[in-house]
Amino acid sequence: MDHLPVFLQLKHSPCLVVGGGTVAERKVRLLMRAGAAVTVVASDLTDDLARLRDEDRIVQHAGAFRGRLLAGMRVVIAATDDNEVNRQVSRTAEDAGVLCNVVDDAASSSFIVPAIVDRSPVVIAIGTGGKAPVLAQRLKTQIEAWLPTRIGALATQAGRWRQLIKRRFATMRERRRFWQRFFDGPIAEHLLANRKRDAERALRLELTENVIPHARPVGEAYIVGAGPGDPGLVTIRAQQLISRADVVLYDRLVSEEILDFARKDAKLVCVGKTANNVTITQKEITELMVAYVRKGRRVCRLKGGDPFVFGRGGEEVQALADAGLPFQVVPGISAALGCAAYAGIPLTHRGLSSSVTFATAKLDGDQAPDWSTLAQPGQTLVLYMSVGSVAETAEQLIEHGIAAKTPVAIVENGTTDQQRVLRGTLATIANDAVEAHIRAPAVIIVGATAGMGEELGWFAANPNSSGPRSNRVLSRHRDLPYSYSSSVAG
Ligand code: SAH
Repeated sequence: MDHLPVFLQLKHSPCLVVGGGTVAERKVRLLMRAGAAVTVVASDLTDDLARLRDEDRIVQHAGAFRGRLLAGMRVVIAATDDNEVNRQVSRTAEDAGVLCNVVDDAASSSFIVPAIVDRSPVVIAIGTGGKAPVLAQRLKTQIEAWLPTRIGALATQAGRWRQLIKRRFATMRERRRFWQRFFDGPIAEHLLANRKRDAERALRLELTENVIPHARPVGEAYIVGAGPGDPGLVTIRAQQLISRADVVLYDRLVSEEILDFARKDAKLVCVGKTANNVTITQKEITELMVAYVRKGRRVCRLKGGDPFVFGRGGEEVQALADAGLPFQVVPGISAALGCAAYAGIPLTHRGLSSSVTFATAKLDGDQAPDWSTLAQPGQTLVLYMSVGSVAETAEQLIEHGIAAKTPVAIVENGTTDQQRVLRGTLATIANDAVEAHIRAPAVIIVGATAGMGEELGWFAANPNSSGPRSNRVLSRHRDLPYSYSSSVAG
């Protein structure tokens, strides 16, 4: 180890930054975040530094750097673009015993500044000994994505309960055991999900019962939207919950890359159609999920797009609520949004479209959609699950008053390597779709803005990628053959 990582207490401590440019400004802000009293040595300041000085939040010394300026300073950072000045600061600081960092010059520094993940009071510092700062930034981004968003709040609350726990448990050993249960068990789980009352209730239970030898597993369901396909469109929250889950119940359209966020020991169950075409009903999926949660498992129900847009997420949370089980819902980028963006089709556009409707031409049973509502002018209509009835859709919209020349785009496998965009008008689209062999999953976008995409299309699908996406998903070797009772038992 070339450096010892420590966390310096700098509240109200005098610190010096030499330099007044943008690099110096970043360092000033960093020191200010730690509560330091900062003096900047520079005749010229950036606008923001000048404003901080005018607001009396920093002090400016407008002359050149002199050794006496180090008197009483805890820390000095040399951030000028003059190497000679920086080295002079470094030498003087060493003689005076003041901690010194020279920006981008680890050899002249007595300390280096790490990349920082700040979820105060949880702070993670990442260092590479000054050898690979960009790598440190990469790691920082990865840690940020992985770290639960409310980890800071969890630590703060633990801090508030520290005295209480100290009084309750006499020995260090008992206390350590308690905190292990605390962070592994339901209380932390509730706090991370922002359910403070439930956490308090769980704590009370734990303290009054005082008979819980192990962490009780807390079952919970995460109803998570995985977006339309591109793994880059999975939210950070979704990644976090996928990687926490003991069991992942995923739809057929969720790609391998997204499932890779799951823990290696997590059980992955495809609840879409399986390779041998056994269909699992919605009722069975819900029962499976409820059964796992009851057993104390963290179950991630991973769905394409958004769970609450044609995703039957509503039925699933209803079942969980009826069973009195905890759940969270994480929104995803719905196919309409993903496909529109990746095909360069604005869903609203000044003068062309002032509203958007998400609908489907395929309703349950014999119900027909209300075509007169869908055929409103001045809007963009996005139809899900409707590529099987393009001809009827076009016919009905024309019959209900939409001009036959209205632009239509069909986006197939949107946002993925296999994305195809078919453009036409209500008059032509049915034939075009047959000719192009358009298949699900695809959305139909109807409206003036659907004609804009050709110049605005920026996303080039990769024609060399291997085969249709659904095949790739179905060939997943981690797919468990669907076995309802044995998966719950396992
Ligand atoms: N909850 C999902 C929709 C599920 S219904 C969401 O919010 O996106 C399934 C339909 O979604 C498909 O029939 C298709 O119309 C659409 N869809 C899903 N993924 C798609 C994709 N990558 N490209 C185009 N359409 C998609």
